[in-house]
Amino acid sequence: MRNSIPAAAFDPAVCPRLVVKIGSSLLVDGEGRVRQAWLAGVVADLAQRRAAGQQIVIVSSGAIALGARRLGLDRGGRASLEDAQAAAAVGQVALAGVWEQLLAAQGLTAAQVLLTLGDLEDRRRYLNVAATIARLLDLGAVPVLNENDTVATSEIRFGDNDRLAARAAQAAGATGVILLSDVDGLYTANPASDPTAQRLPVVKALTPEIMAMATAETRSGMGSGGMAAKVQAARMAGAAGIALAICDGRVERPLTRFADAGGGTLFLPPRNARGRKAWLAGRITVAGSLAVDAGAAAALKRGASLLAAGVVQVEGKFRRGDVVAIVGPAGELLGRGLAGYDADDARAICGRRNDDQAGVLGYAPRSALVHADHLVLI
Ligand code: GLU
Repeated sequence: MRNSIPAAAFDPAVCPRLVVKIGSSLLVDGEGRVRQAWLAGVVADLAQRRAAGQQIVIVSSGAIALGARRLGLDRGGRASLEDAQAAAAVGQVALAGVWEQLLAAQGLTAAQVLLTLGDLEDRRRYLNVAATIARLLDLGAVPVLNENDTVATSEIRFGDNDRLAARAAQAAGATGVILLSDVDGLYTANPASDPTAQRLPVVKALTPEIMAMATAETRSGMGSGGMAAKVQAARMAGAAGIALAICDGRVERPLTRFADAGGGTLFLPPRNARGRKAWLAGRITVAGSLAVDAGAAAALKRGASLLAAGVVQVEGKFRRGDVVAIVGPAGELLGRGLAGYDADDARAICGRRNDDQAGVLGYAPRSALVHADHLVLI
């Protein structure tokens, strides 16, 4: 891969885990059919990145558009919430089948993950999603995410997969998000009506001027994102220290093309953003604390997760997902993290090795008491 800017930010060498979002209008043609040949090209691009060592998470739209055609619904299945929910139920089956087949053709295993807003907003459920995605990636599968539109109602849904991709990227511990779209980036004005409009290759800060350049209108009317959702997604990703690009998906092999020829708009995360880790580091109130032994303290400093075996004492009342302090052998504050267990379960397993925990818990233990991804040293 040649390193053209802004695509260099997503090179496997600097971006070990990438989220690629594919919009409905690219995935589904005007007749409501999957654009198989184009999509096979995208999957070939993804397979190449995988072979170069990059882990891939796909966010795939298209369920509503595909289901609408099968159910004979007008307005692409978006005439009412009930239509969209029904269309998504039918379309998602087809969509999963397409991904399964195309990824298998490249020797890759598809894993479907359907999410609601609450799954990513509630901290406990967020940890569950993060753990599932991490496990799937460990196992070499390719998670294919979409919003669970069938059970999502208007108040509790993302509604667009751009923001879903940004939040999911955080949960997945990704360093980059590429939104494949039917627009080739953010323009200074609407290029359809203003001939002086210019594409911005790199956006360093989401100033009010930049926000004003993004309007909610979508070119195809098929998806629901529009430029406003994309810029909001860039803001969410940026706050978590994740780079995001809008990239033209209307060409064959769009990711290879992006890597070779550039184009698109890259939104750089603000310099001070370290996302959840920054938020964790800044927390003053904690729900409890975990005292660790010297071995665990040393392992944490090397970047390891906190295992129950290294915890000597658990204090406080906390639930899985609450922020806890991690304290060293001399009582010194080492860091903070999101507890992987409720306090009672943490107490039950502290000091025990992983293979010794199932008996006291009554369920299969998780990999760590505080996972390294959800932990910050101070
Ligand atoms: N989740 C929707 C679908 O699968 C797409 C949302 C969007 O247009 O971004 O049809």
